[in-house]
Amino acid sequence: MVSRSLGRVQELHDAPLAPLTTFRLGGPATRLVTATTDAEVIAAVRAADADGTPLLIVGGGSNLVIGDKGFEGTALRIATRGCELAGTRLELAAGETWTDAVARTVEAGLAGVECLAGIPGSAGATPIQNVGAYGQEVATTITEVIAYDRREGETVTLTAGECAFSYRHSRFKADPERFVVLRVRFELEDADGLSAPLKYAETARALGVEPGDRVPLAEARETVLKLRAGKGMVLDPQDHDTWSAGSFFTNPILTDADFAVFHARVRERLGDGAEPPAYPAGEGHTKTSAAWLIDKAGFTKGYGGGPARISTKHTLALTNRGSATTEDLLALAREVVAGVREAFGVTLVNEPVMVGVGL
Ligand SMILES: Cc1cc2nc3c(=O)[nH]c(=O)nc-3n(C[C@H](O)[C@H](O)[C@H](O)COP(=O)(O)OP(=O)(O)OC[C@H]3O[C@@H](n4cnc5c(N)ncnc54)[C@H](O)[C@@H]3O)c2cc1C
Repeated sequence: MVSRSLGRVQELHDAPLAPLTTFRLGGPATRLVTATTDAEVIAAVRAADADGTPLLIVGGGSNLVIGDKGFEGTALRIATRGCELAGTRLELAAGETWTDAVARTVEAGLAGVECLAGIPGSAGATPIQNVGAYGQEVATTITEVIAYDRREGETVTLTAGECAFSYRHSRFKADPERFVVLRVRFELEDADGLSAPLKYAETARALGVEPGDRVPLAEARETVLKLRAGKGMVLDPQDHDTWSAGSFFTNPILTDADFAVFHARVRERLGDGAEPPAYPAGEGHTKTSAAWLIDKAGFTKGYGGGPARISTKHTLALTNRGSATTEDLLALAREVVAGVREAFGVTLVNEPVMVGVGL
């Protein structure tokens, strides 16, 4: 690995990417550039685009599966900083740590992202898959995303509507080569120190209140952190259950017709009274639970005999027990996908972004 410093921009050659990911997996990048200002980010993107070098944007590496061969091109690590709160408006630089930003909003008495506490990674990545948990998602509070548009070669401000947010998806995820997020703006709510109405039954239950109720912000955040920790969903370097990308699969959204077929298959396999989880997911669509499917297909917590296994705390997290390769992880993921398809006719889709590999 060769290191070079161009002004303040740090540049490494043949740089390992595994330590930059929460899976701790993946080979090296030809070049790794760390940018600490928007101008450095833009300069690095322009330089790569000018000579046709493939570009991989890396935030906190908590939603990345990088192939064992690594990345042939420039990996650009976004390490910009900036957190401005003015009234109920929050603006975050893309490189800010999301969990710190959430803690700051709670301290400031502002509601809207308190249930997104504990989600690892950077603020700039939150719009990419419209991060969500425990009844909140950033689509509700983001007002604008400031991004560098690689196609037009200029910085643009996108309204929330222009970001086309949906469940674990956005315009950025749909068109990953186009935008590099520089800053994200949020509009929060001043509810006199109370949280947004709790939407998630599990959180409400843990707090001893009803869904729809508000609770003191700090209590909402701490409860979510506690629930998440119990599922291995808060990073802990000592705990291999958190050497993951969180949920490895998204919850399948089926058309009502496909859901009826799936429902019949569930009853055939699990008995007449069997009911799969079903949540409304927009006109004519129903969402079911990937965790339920995986579990009922026989892949229970801790499944796997090798160095990549299902988390012992959550069926939806695939984990590196310390010595796995990306191929080990993918072999497990493929086994789960094939098993669920065979049992229930539903094809699971990966949530993390795959770099140089696929299922
Ligand atoms: C233990 C654990 C729990 C998790 N829980 C949740 C959860 O509850 N809900 C949830 O939604 N997610 C969850 N995740 C997934 C992950 O934390 C989020 O998706 C997070 O937003 C990823 O941020 P990151 O900075 O690590 O992105 P990275 O992994 O670095 O990148 C992810 C993708 O975003 C792109 N990207 C990153 N930054 C930018 C940028 N500035 N501009 C353009 N593209 C960019 C990358 O190129 C890549 O395609 C969890 C992960 C772990 C490890």
